[in-house]
Amino acid sequence: MALSNIHGFPRIGRRRELKSALEGYWAGDHSAMDLANVARSLRRINWELMRNAGIDLIPSNDFSLYDHVLDTAALLGAVPPRFRGGPGPVGLDLYFEMARGGDTATAMEMTKWFDTNYHYIVPELEPEIGFALSDSKPFDQFLEARDLGIVTKPVLLGPVSFLLLSKPGDGVDERFDLLDLLEPLLDIYAEVLVRLGGLGAEWVQMDEPCFAQDRTGAELAGLARGYDRLAGLEGTPKLCVSTYFDHAGEAVSILADLPLDGVGLDFVSGPRNLELLRAADGLGGKTLFAGVVDGRNVWINDLDASLRLLDELGRLTGELVVSTSSSLLHVPLDLDAETGPDEELRSWMAFAQQKALEVAALKRGVVGGAAAIASEIEANRRAMQVRRESPRTHIDAIRGRVAGLTAADARRANPYEVRRAAQRKRLRFPPLPTTTIGSFPQTRELREARAALQRDEIDEAEYERRMRGEIERVIRLQERLGLDLLVHGEPERNDMVRYFAEQLEGFAITESGWVQSYGSRCVRPPIIFGDVRRTGPMTVAWTLYAQSLTEKPVKGMLTGPVTMLQWSFVRDDQSREQTCRQLALAVRDELADLQNAGIKVIQVDEPAIREGLPLRRENRDEYLRWAVAAFGIATGSAGDKTQVQTHMCYSDFGDIMGQIQAMDADVLLIEAARSRMELLEDWRRTGYRQEIGPGVYDIHSPRVPPVDEMAGLLRRAVEVLPAERLWVDPDCGLKTRRYEEAEPALRNMVEAARLVRAELAPAGAAAEDA
Ligand code: GLN
Ligand code: ZN
Repeated sequence: MALSNIHGFPRIGRRRELKSALEGYWAGDHSAMDLANVARSLRRINWELMRNAGIDLIPSNDFSLYDHVLDTAALLGAVPPRFRGGPGPVGLDLYFEMARGGDTATAMEMTKWFDTNYHYIVPELEPEIGFALSDSKPFDQFLEARDLGIVTKPVLLGPVSFLLLSKPGDGVDERFDLLDLLEPLLDIYAEVLVRLGGLGAEWVQMDEPCFAQDRTGAELAGLARGYDRLAGLEGTPKLCVSTYFDHAGEAVSILADLPLDGVGLDFVSGPRNLELLRAADGLGGKTLFAGVVDGRNVWINDLDASLRLLDELGRLTGELVVSTSSSLLHVPLDLDAETGPDEELRSWMAFAQQKALEVAALKRGVVGGAAAIASEIEANRRAMQVRRESPRTHIDAIRGRVAGLTAADARRANPYEVRRAAQRKRLRFPPLPTTTIGSFPQTRELREARAALQRDEIDEAEYERRMRGEIERVIRLQERLGLDLLVHGEPERNDMVRYFAEQLEGFAITESGWVQSYGSRCVRPPIIFGDVRRTGPMTVAWTLYAQSLTEKPVKGMLTGPVTMLQWSFVRDDQSREQTCRQLALAVRDELADLQNAGIKVIQVDEPAIREGLPLRRENRDEYLRWAVAAFGIATGSAGDKTQVQTHMCYSDFGDIMGQIQAMDADVLLIEAARSRMELLEDWRRTGYRQEIGPGVYDIHSPRVPPVDEMAGLLRRAVEVLPAERLWVDPDCGLKTRRYEEAEPALRNMVEAARLVRAELAPAGAAAEDA
């Protein structure tokens, strides 16, 4: 016997119905009932689709109107006090207020879900919080499916991961140990499990993905304690504790020893699980939920390889459940609805719906042997072979170039001090020069122009005319504001990765391949299927046009190789390092073209470098080594007098400062306003030598920061670092803001820089001479 299982399914709908329903509700155009109806129909479509695909263990409670971690907080009554009096049931509006902020209370924090591009809401907990079962969603949705004749497997975020993903609430002593809340939390989980048992659930999946990260002894003990209690209850469904996104480390033997019914392990992102399982001598007769179909990438499964692995796993454990490696939340819904990639490329891919068929086929293969799925295997082998041998995946010239890269190619010809002198002579910026991160507001007109071009309502020439008009407007505005280093504003870029992906060989672009990023926000990551080749300049004409309009220097703007990798679906038939080097060469060539065309400053954005960090510490050095090298390759073609800037945001850089230094950009523009410049002290301590522009205002909010506030931050900055090494800039690009906000904010920023510059004049002048 074997079963088939899916961890979770995309929630957003084929045409992003959930997005429209949510945004309609928030705008007051739809009622709560309308929203509920859309949500119900999406769940039904998903359940029926999985049933028809032949899935035995179909998830419920994986659906969410905003985020499954927020749902868990609502279930447990964990509402931060600022949203109202105290714990108790969470209605729809309170739920959305927690996610998005209310009239008076600021939204709860959102952060990345492990190393995916999904973001969850961070629960806030106080020591005296009284957990109480406060929502009926898991029960309601179980019953909703049962009414359709489908007995689902409810999915819950497990109690230990829930605590580890939370943070202490406002004003709570930092020493407060969230794990102290485990016992009262278990009471509520016990109640939930017993109720689900009473309703007729056979299995419940408890997700504990935190155990695919390095964990302390106390945390591992919490896992053991928690499930010892939950697994011993009367009247509950069978329990499967599931880990994913990497191997489960020490947790494997702990889970093996617990009185659980099932354990879920990810064999795609955590191949070491196999070794760990061998070392633990199986799972003590438990059912293994074997994650063999990749929940995070878009390639077809290698059925032969999976059957071999499943065969070995079957011999190591008791029962076998063939499973996805994680929730399918991270891949688009349906490949058949996709028109972007051509037919051959599509034959190499599987989205959520196709993955459900793969899981079901593999289960039949486990039960009846390979012969039972002979035709699937046959088609799969053919597609795998075509992909392997396709000239589209192998460009010899590119491979040769990558193979020929030397250490010298991955760094600038001369040390920073030499470059700095050359750049000072050529660029002559004032002290505390002002600049922006690149994008200016993406207006409705710009979006409409892009849509009109797509629909063939306007031609290329007209599109170009409109973009040039916008560039001119942005240049004039910056001149008026008195910025020192200008940008063209990126009006022609829909997205900082997709824009390049559309022009590079080796990338496929999807039309409907939406993946939820957070709440109603979705993205369409490009797909890197083959060797990456630049076929010609991608940004030069726009940049030169902008430069032709002004005497002031205009920055060239490129997306870095690591960020392109991180925000795409990446081919799985070669190492990420190899793919990243190919991307780096494309950026390198573009940078060289900009430089040859006379552009003096070029920014290579790497906002995603920190988020690519592997979950397990054991893999981090290796990643950082090649990520830094890729940036080096991308920028190594810059001569001494070409100033290379880089920009990073979204995270805390405390643990990778050494590597950022090794990237050796001439200027680092980094998010800092929200942390009120706290990180500058760290940069000073590590002896960072290059120039830094710590963001002086948070672009995520429509608020226009007053001059004094930004001047205050700058004064703080010049106390910590020498003024001649500081730049003045916002935290990130302005594309999500409106001109009504961006213009006054930049005016104030320039004014703040002037004020502080004047205060510093003597010291600044002395430093200039030195
Ligand atoms: N240059 C990009 C912009 O200004 C950088 C965006 C980012 O950091 N995510 O929009
Ligand atoms: Zn940014």
